[in-house]
Amino acid sequence: MRLYKYKYNASAIIEKAEGMDLKEKAALVVSRLENEYPVAQCTLSYEDAWQLMVSVRLAAQCTDARVDKVTEVLYNRYPTAERLSEAAYDDVFEIVKPCGLGASKTRDILASMKKLCSEYGGIVPDDIDTLLTFPGVGRKSANLIVGDIYGKPAIVCDTHCIRISNLIGLADSDKPDVVEKQLRKIVEPDKGNDLCHRFVLHGRAVCIARRPQCQNCCLNDLCDHAQAVRNA
Ligand code: SF4
Repeated sequence: MRLYKYKYNASAIIEKAEGMDLKEKAALVVSRLENEYPVAQCTLSYEDAWQLMVSVRLAAQCTDARVDKVTEVLYNRYPTAERLSEAAYDDVFEIVKPCGLGASKTRDILASMKKLCSEYGGIVPDDIDTLLTFPGVGRKSANLIVGDIYGKPAIVCDTHCIRISNLIGLADSDKPDVVEKQLRKIVEPDKGNDLCHRFVLHGRAVCIARRPQCQNCCLNDLCDHAQAVRNA
């Protein structure tokens, strides 16, 4: 991953900040991050849509690396949604418990796979409202599924997306549903899903929680937080 060595000059910053509306700013953020992280993809490993539904449930309060280790075992043991829907609770619990919240995750996974197989023939729905009726599927997961699986407009409001959007000044809330609405208004629909994947990459590499590397950030001249630090 390439680190962008940002060298700003004050007059350029003032020029850019003046007269720039939020849509323009969002478009610039999108293009800078596209340049910085050419490959934008989900950080969880999966091969089928139902697996993404399961993996994203396991990812709550757990690292993607640990989820991937656990799902390697889980998907080998239960290679289809139908097989997983028929699995014994105790067996699934033993496999997924390293991800934490083992009881509720096992319950949700088994219930969602049963619903998927009995009501949808194993085909993961492609709209957010229907996905929200599945046990354990919230707006973040539903957006991720429609964006990654079906290429539909999506804003995946995870911790990186919320934090970085607020720092830059594209959003002003810590509530995921509010940030999602705010970003949907200003980000081109076909850019939102990949932008959120890139926020994750940027949040890990540069805009790290509690110690953002603003001096190395490609968004420095666009970022409200960096501007406030310069003005302090
Ligand atoms: S300039 Fe600093 S706070 Fe703003 S996005 Fe970059 S690293 Fe984060």
